[in-house]
Amino acid sequence: MILPLLTDFPTLKLRDLLGAPSPSVSMDNVKVGSKGACLRMHLLGKCSVQGCSFNHKAITIPPERVTAIAAHLLRAGKAFRIHHK
Ligand SMILES: [Zn+2]
Repeated sequence: MILPLLTDFPTLKLRDLLGAPSPSVSMDNVKVGSKGACLRMHLLGKCSVQGCSFNHKAITIPPERVTAIAAHLLRAGKAFRIHHK
């Protein structure tokens, strides 16, 4: 669901993805890892930002958190699609 978004919008940033006005999903809703973790890498599956200074090291996310985040991203992805036809 989210990855096809990257095919259509290769430069998609998490900030843009979460930018749809409704339903709103905040950065806090989907934050993972410790401070400095690359959310693009960890949430969108890859990071193609040149010279990205955020941390790409593998992180562990509790399963229940994964489920919650997936639901948030799904909502954000749907909203993004609606606003970027
Ligand atoms: Zn990155």
